[in-house]
Amino acid sequence: MINSSSFFIDLSYFFAAALFIYGLRRMSSPISARSGIWVAAAGMLLAIAASFAHPNVTSNHWLILIAMLIGGALSFIHAKRVELSEMPQMIALYNGLGGGAAATIAAVELLRAAEHGPSERILGVAGALIGCIAFSGSLLAFAKLSGWVKFGRWLGNRQTAYVAIMASVLLLGFLLSFSNTAHPVLLLLFFLLCLLFGIVMTLPIAAADMPVLISLYNAGAGLAVGFEGYVLGNPAMMVAGTLVCAAGVLLTRLMAQAVNRRLSEILYSGFGIPHEISEATMQYGHVNEVDAFDAAVTMAYAEEVLIVPGYGMAVAQAQHKVQELTQLLEERGVNVQFAIHPVAGRMPGHMNVLLAEAGVSYEKIRDLSDINGEMSKIDVSLIIGANDIVNLAARSDQKSPLHGMPILNVDESKSVIVLKRVDGKGYAGIDNPLLQHEKTRVHFGDAKQSVQEIISAIKSLD
Ligand code: NDP
Repeated sequence: MINSSSFFIDLSYFFAAALFIYGLRRMSSPISARSGIWVAAAGMLLAIAASFAHPNVTSNHWLILIAMLIGGALSFIHAKRVELSEMPQMIALYNGLGGGAAATIAAVELLRAAEHGPSERILGVAGALIGCIAFSGSLLAFAKLSGWVKFGRWLGNRQTAYVAIMASVLLLGFLLSFSNTAHPVLLLLFFLLCLLFGIVMTLPIAAADMPVLISLYNAGAGLAVGFEGYVLGNPAMMVAGTLVCAAGVLLTRLMAQAVNRRLSEILYSGFGIPHEISEATMQYGHVNEVDAFDAAVTMAYAEEVLIVPGYGMAVAQAQHKVQELTQLLEERGVNVQFAIHPVAGRMPGHMNVLLAEAGVSYEKIRDLSDINGEMSKIDVSLIIGANDIVNLAARSDQKSPLHGMPILNVDESKSVIVLKRVDGKGYAGIDNPLLQHEKTRVHFGDAKQSVQEIISAIKSLD
């Protein structure tokens, strides 16, 4: 009886793993991504059902169900209410909770150390370490992205703090791994130090480095789940964790390439120290303003218009108006293209999702590396709520926290129109010399409203 039930449990885990992989494959294209999420969710449901039937799950079924209902209801309500512009915070939060859940499993299993062999204890400790770092680091990233924590600096020498905390964590981890009795006090100390490490890692991170760190925590949370899957002997957890980890590692690599930084630079540099504007960033003088009518005329009589969307377009939810403007310009014979920077917005693919939602066709969307070589052919670059991704300081100011990050070289196009609300800065919190550049004119106002004004002005030309 037990053999046949364990056969069905293993079979269910196998199918769940297959559904995860197939779901992930479908998520690789925005067209099939939505169904991919449902396929992966079906896999998760199957894995949970199989775990309920597991011979080791003998009691507390009701408690598990109640916890699942509370967690499920809260996340459902939260996910329904969350604005698209708050999505990155939400991802950071749920990433962190995944890592925290894996670390909690490790805590329970390490308190039952006698029931596990050395390999399970070692992976349990490793999962706890990575899970705790992903938990505290992601929660701090969540607070930073929500604007609750502006920036942070580790008081004293960050490298020394790193080495001291990590050395203590490794020593405690070693003791916990090779002892077959439970050590609650050591375990508590180990957990506290791991959580502290996540905070030290995240505190000074800002600007272009944030997406890289979030992707890294995503990978870490996956790895921790995979390790704890091994400790529990749960293949579905191992496969799901490994898949999340692999996807997170690939994303981390892509993001690090996009901002032209090595991971070690991000994790060990003194990044996040308040920036002083150097003379180079102030050299261009005052801001030239433009009204909606003049902006409309400039674009309506151009041949090549390049639209550069940024976080402000997401805040304003201007994507549908932008698509309307695109169609209007195309009807007048203007060739309209879009340039998407890999870190535009607040999550990987943020702009792609918004433009796809508005019906902008994929052929019009150009990558940073690909469009930068053709900037001189562009008559008008229309920057909609973007700042850091077109911040000239990244090229010219060695003291800038953005220095080294490739930007969209819109200043090489013939003219630039920037739509922004006020005299605010971007995510990195530093001034952008593009705003004072001789080719640039700025139209102040909410992006959706401004695009609507430009649309009305173009219509009035007929
Ligand atoms: P930025 O945050 O640099 O700039 C946004 C601009 O939009 C600001 O200039 C702001 O100026 C303007 N804005 C805000 N609201 C509105 C509105 N309603 N209407 C019009 N304009 C508005 O965004 P970018 O997309 O240029 O750069 C992304 C930044 O976020 C990078 O530094 C990146 O590293 C970071 N990041 C990216 C993540 C990702 O995964 N993509 C994750 C975490 C961070 P004003 O207030 O004056 O209107």
